Formats: sequence, C-alpha cells, structure tokens
Amino acid sequence: MVTITISGVDKSGALARITTFFVRKGYPLKGSQVMQSASGAKLMKFSLDITQLDKAKLAAEIKDLSPDFSVVSVEGAQSGAPSIKEIAAKFPDIAPLVQAYGESFGTETRDRELIEAGKKIGAFQYEKDWSFGSPLKMPTALRRTLVPALEAFDKVEATDTEVTLPESPFCKTGKIACCEFLTGFMQGFLDAGPLTQNTRVQKTGCKAKGDSRCTYKFSYEL
Ligand SMILES: [Zn+2]
Repeated sequence: MVTITISGVDKSGALARITTFFVRKGYPLKGSQVMQSASGAKLMKFSLDITQLDKAKLAAEIKDLSPDFSVVSVEGAQSGAPSIKEIAAKFPDIAPLVQAYGESFGTETRDRELIEAGKKIGAFQYEKDWSFGSPLKMPTALRRTLVPALEAFDKVEATDTEVTLPESPFCKTGKIACCEFLTGFMQGFLDAGPLTQNTRVQKTGCKAKGDSRCTYKFSYEL
C-alpha cells in the first residue's frame, strides 16, 4: 500500500477531482482521508493498493490537474521495479514480481510492456525446459509443452484453441491486472518452437474486465 499526501486542496471539489484522476489513470484507490497539517492547512491522504510508484511522474500529473495541488509525501513505495532477469530467476513464483513490474508503468504502456516481458521469459522457459526432442506442431505442442509449462503457475484448462486460468495469479481482483504478461509468455514460448511460430495468442477474457476467468485464444493454421 502506498500513501500519497497532497496539499493545496482547500477549494471545494478537490477531493472529487483527485479521486477521479486516480480512478481514470487506473490506480487502485483504496481510501482517502482529509486532515490538517500542523500549520492548519488542509491535506488529503490517498491510499493506493500498489507497491511501486513513479513519484516524479505522479507529482507532475497532480500539478497538471491543478497548479494548486502539490504532492507532499509518498510513503510505502518500494524503490525500483524488478528487472526481467530478476523475474526469470524466480520462475515460477513470479506473480508478485510481475505485479511490481506492471505497476511501474502507466496505463498507456503497461500491457505492451507486460507482453514484451512475458515474451522474453516464455522464450527463455521454452529453450530451457521444453526444446529437447523433436519439435512439435500445434495443437500437440500446446498440450504437451505449453500447458504443462503454464501449470507451474496455477490450474489450467485447455482445448486445442483456448487456454483458461480460472484463478490466474496475474489477475487478482483489486490489483492492477497483469495477465497480459501471460499473453506474452505464451507467444514467446510458441515463437521459440520451430513448428509453432505461426501461432497467434490473444487474450479474450479477463477477470479484471468482468469476465468469470482469464482466457487466451490461439489461432494457427494446421
Ligand atoms: Zn485477467
């Protein structure tokens, strides 16, 4: 949990404006509190359910919202997102690291960055654990290599063209959804296989978007 204290919030409507800003930017806002500083000025504290925060960026965004607003302090933020190498080293217990990695990006770039990180780690896992023996084609490759690789994360349900993770550790409610990491992971994994390179992976369902589970679809030609 990160707590941000903002000053210059005396005008009416400040709370609503800042709250709207957090929600619109995709920050998981857990609570807010109005208080007074020692000198009697009004302050607002906002709690966000994240572990990473780009303080400079947030301070600039808050200033853009109104020149009166000013970020006084940010408490509880860890410094520095994990690197892709650090994430790969922790496989398969990487969900908290992927979460921290995802949180270090803004909403505009987060999904793209998660896909790219997933691709690298998926390709790495394929090379490391699944590239032995003769290369497989889809859908055999999906059943014999990709699904077992994904089962290291959590329970997986699969058909020849679809994979579902009913309780994806990358898509916890109330947190920023990082399940595009898995889109990248599967894509990178399949791209690394000589006979599965023409397969496209797409996320078609997501708990964070109101679906009952996170689902990924595979398109390929036999
Ligand atoms: Zn999801």
